[in-house]
Amino acid sequence: MDVNSPYVKVLDIEQTLADLNRTVDQLRQERDDLEIALTTAVEHGDAIESQLELANRQLQREIHERRGIEQQLRRLVATITEKSRDLELVLQTITEHSDQMDLHWLGRYIESENTARRDPLTGLANRRLLDETMSREWARGRRQRQWVAMLLCDVDFFKSYNDRHGHQAGDHCLVRIAGALKGQLHREGDLIARYGGEEFVLLLPDTDETGALRVAETVQASFEQLQIPHEDSPWGRITLSIGAASMMPSHQDEAALFAEVDRRLYMAKQQGRNRVIASD
Ligand code: GH3
Ligand code: MG
Ligand code: MG
Repeated sequence: MDVNSPYVKVLDIEQTLADLNRTVDQLRQERDDLEIALTTAVEHGDAIESQLELANRQLQREIHERRGIEQQLRRLVATITEKSRDLELVLQTITEHSDQMDLHWLGRYIESENTARRDPLTGLANRRLLDETMSREWARGRRQRQWVAMLLCDVDFFKSYNDRHGHQAGDHCLVRIAGALKGQLHREGDLIARYGGEEFVLLLPDTDETGALRVAETVQASFEQLQIPHEDSPWGRITLSIGAASMMPSHQDEAALFAEVDRRLYMAKQQGRNRVIASD
């Protein structure tokens, strides 16, 4: 505050009170009832003061209580925040774990589904996958009026190969045969399966009898290249007999195609082995 300002009046409180007392004394001498009026005013002022004091004490109490409640609330909020952070951590851990568990079980499921349809020795499709694929392709062939071809290949004189070289060498030979057959399939929808011990099936959707014969001859040619020695065979190497057929799926079911390739394979064996029979 600027005490030199013309708008500021500095009062000496003691001087002012002394002036006031003098004024009151003068007034008393002039009026008799002034004493009573002043006493009433003082009493009245005392009552107001005590009321104000009471209100003030109450306010202080309320402020004190309010502060206490505020502090409690702050502590509560801190606890909740801390706990919610803990809870978040727990939730996060559970989520991460459950994700891992889901992935783990999904992986296990896919793996088991896959192994249930694969031949463990060669990695080729097994009979189950062949049957499922065949049903699907047969239905598609019927819908889209497309041929479905099949080759049934059987290793010639394989029993004597095993007898001479042992079962393990026989297994190894089957793996090599599977690899050679795999190399002959180039179309996406084609499937090669291990049908039985030393029997393999090639399923060729959208392929007519001429196409089936062509694939069978390519397979035979590749076996000539493969040259797996087989001393008990007239050709001195591992050979295949193949029954091939193609059908336009209509009223008969897919068993008809299996029966036909089986019949032709039998004919190939009857006619001396190491050959393809693709028609009657
Ligand atoms: P064919 O020319 O008439 O087909 O004569 P084959 O000896 O091949 O036919 P056969 O059915 O008499 O014998 C099949 C043999 O294939 C029997 C078994 O020794 C062998 N074999 C079948 N499955 C397996 C296998 O998983 N591993 C091995 N190492 N040999 C197998
Ligand atoms: Mg056989
Ligand atoms: Mg055989």
